[in-house]
Amino acid sequence: MSDFDTFFHKAKDKAKDVADVAGKKTNELVNLSKLKLQEMQIGRKIRSLYEQLGRATYQLHKNSFENEELISSLEDEIAEQLDAQAVVDDKLCDMKNQVSCPCCHAKNSKNAVYCSSCGNQLKDEFADFVENEPEEPAPEAEPEKTEEE
Ligand SMILES: [Zn+2]
Repeated sequence: MSDFDTFFHKAKDKAKDVADVAGKKTNELVNLSKLKLQEMQIGRKIRSLYEQLGRATYQLHKNSFENEELISSLEDEIAEQLDAQAVVDDKLCDMKNQVSCPCCHAKNSKNAVYCSSCGNQLKDEFADFVENEPEEPAPEAEPEKTEEE
């Protein structure tokens, strides 16, 4: 193999590596935007279902009708969409290195011990070593100067 061939092969391998990395990055971005779009669509669907449920309830109540079937079918649809939303949410959190608070659904860093929004404990404080700012001891109060009058 001539020097040129070796050089050429090396250059080609390198180009392939770069392409692979770029491909991975692009895939991640595509997945992220796909998930974001899904999240948006599901959110819109849920809002519309809530609206339908509210309108149906209002109309039925106003006219003293009862339509258990309509209400429960809307409720089922909402529950289904909420489940789908939770799945998408989980994936999104994972990609962004975040966790969703089980209490208020606020997004927190994976390292967070407490929810930044509601203070709910997200994990055991000593579950793993987390690099936090060392807690500084409260500065000692300066002794009051006793001035002679
Ligand atoms: Zn919370």
